[in-house]
Amino acid sequence: MNVSECDSCGAENELLVSSCAYCGNSLIDDAYVEKESDELEELVQQCSSWIGKYEGIVSSIGSLNNAKQMDSVSATPIFGAMISSSFGSKAMSYSEILSKVHHYLDLLEIKSSNSSVLREKVAQFKKRYDRAQLKEKETHKKKVRLIVGLVLATILFIAFCLFMASLE
Ligand SMILES: [Zn+2]
Repeated sequence: MNVSECDSCGAENELLVSSCAYCGNSLIDDAYVEKESDELEELVQQCSSWIGKYEGIVSSIGSLNNAKQMDSVSATPIFGAMISSSFGSKAMSYSEILSKVHHYLDLLEIKSSNSSVLREKVAQFKKRYDRAQLKEKETHKKKVRLIVGLVLATILFIAFCLFMASLE
């Protein structure tokens, strides 16, 4: 039978209703609600921590390079195993971090459809993620400028050497 009995007045209610039609008592299992909110908290924490990892790598040329290097290295089986055993869990791959961020943002977005508090939280996460993406672009530009600078310096140095050599 598709009914649930009210704890308070004993009346039988349809399974889909959330409170008793006769006395108004809540028919939702407290343990279920608690479990659901624990899971949600875990999701929020995971999402925040993965965005944090992304924020951690985007501001420095070195760590951004390392993270991207992890991708190309872990694509080759032997080196991948070597690197992950020597760096341990500290070395994070760029694509892994991004896929985790997207995974948790998507999950939270789905869950937030009937919670304005959660929607607010998701909006904050997205803002953090957007800022970190801008930061990544800046870091990338910095890296390009650095490379161009090094190449120019090398060319100037060679020209200088050739000039000095021609004086003798
Ligand atoms: Zn009742």
